[in-house]
Amino acid sequence: MKADTEKCISCMRCVAICPKKARKLNKVLLFAASQKMKKACGGRKKNELFL
Ligand code: SF4
Repeated sequence: MKADTEKCISCMRCVAICPKKARKLNKVLLFAASQKMKKACGGRKKNELFL
């Protein structure tokens, strides 16, 4: 089964919740993604309101 690339936001929820562990991530890609996310998600940020 392939994800619809137009809709998928790469949240990895499907990987986390599949009871059959049918979806997996390549360890190298997972490491690269975690490094990228560390930069964006590292540290607490101030609340912001966008209208
Ligand atoms: S659960 Fe997340 S990663 Fe999986 S297909 Fe849906 S949007 Fe993509």
